[in-house]
Amino acid sequence: MSKRKDTEVIKAGDGPARKHHVANTPVYHASTVTFDSYAELRHGVRHMDEQFFYGRMGSPTQFALEQALADLEGGAAAKLFPSGMAAVAAAIFSLVRAGDHILVADNVYEPVRKLAGTMLKRLGVTCEFFDSQIGAGIGAHFTDQTRLVFVEAPGSLTFEMPDIKAMAGVAKARGAYLLVDNTWATPLYFNPLSQGADYVIHAATKYIVGHSDVMMGIVVARQGLEKRLRRMARQLGQVSSPDDAYLAHRGLKTLAVRLERHQQNALEVAAAMVGHPLVDRVLHPAFEGTPGHHIWQRDFSGASGLFSIVLKRGRMEDMGALVDQMVHFRLGFSWGGFESLILPADPATMRTATAWQGPGPLLRLSVGLEDPADLVADLEAALGRFDKTAR
Ligand SMILES: *Cc1c(COP(=O)(O)O)cnc(C)c1O
Repeated sequence: MSKRKDTEVIKAGDGPARKHHVANTPVYHASTVTFDSYAELRHGVRHMDEQFFYGRMGSPTQFALEQALADLEGGAAAKLFPSGMAAVAAAIFSLVRAGDHILVADNVYEPVRKLAGTMLKRLGVTCEFFDSQIGAGIGAHFTDQTRLVFVEAPGSLTFEMPDIKAMAGVAKARGAYLLVDNTWATPLYFNPLSQGADYVIHAATKYIVGHSDVMMGIVVARQGLEKRLRRMARQLGQVSSPDDAYLAHRGLKTLAVRLERHQQNALEVAAAMVGHPLVDRVLHPAFEGTPGHHIWQRDFSGASGLFSIVLKRGRMEDMGALVDQMVHFRLGFSWGGFESLILPADPATMRTATAWQGPGPLLRLSVGLEDPADLVADLEAALGRFDKTAR
């Protein structure tokens, strides 16, 4: 694998002039920025997106991280948001108006489904959910009002990999936008803009921050959409703090090495689950049999540490017997941090356009930076306990 990205991730958003020769961009705390003259203030008003103007539009600390993400994704501009969900909402709001129709992949992060089904509906935007595996077949779901298509690559619970290139081609031909949530792969393993997407969204809360201590979202816009993105961030009054931007940029510096280890550990844990007597199947884009595996091979340069296993039997209400005594996998939401997490889920309750085939519950695993042998032992012990208690 080329090391180019590993180098770029260290340099991105940097420059000695930007930070007075300090190795990291300093934290600029500011609401007010003062101007030396009225003429400068007037210039600032005309160029508020290109310079340090007022705290709500960000300080040099946020600008450095925005520049880094724009460069890593090959976009024209990036904006930070106070959470991944805020980034998703702002990205969609910047493109839709009443009367529009949007297409949302059936396997997306559940709060995105809720946004589409409640707030957007109230504002006169109708939503249809579609099978993320449909590829160019997405064309059949378009109406004259279809404004955008939203998809996760891959779905962050069930890991179907969508064909971004095929969907981007259809969206472009129909005058619609394609929005891709790229949180799983990070900008290091996949760049949706290069495949024709219009916006890329990251829940930086996950791998970019990487230490389970900051909420942050990022939208990267392709050339031509940067004004629209900045205007929406400004109008919604969404700002991510300079302290959070500092921590996220610090996280980004080590993303390449962390991700390599997350990838390796997850592959080892996933391999140990293949053929386990209690495991129906392993859902991991790097594993054959996971829907869209060939697309992962074609488009991605790596896999991160998040995947799922589907159990052969069991009920959601009995999952305590499996997870309660685990010692390395902790129980909790979010993912992408240094620590391993496990989360039982029932995808059938979170989709409407596709059927979910699961003899038992799904366990989503965020594989951390621990020794994978310890993680495998922890999982095998948990499955063993569950096998004895729940029939
Ligand atoms: C967590 C997550 C989000 C939302 O991010 P928050 O920072 O928790 O708001 C969006 N998309 C995906 C794929 C996620 O996993």
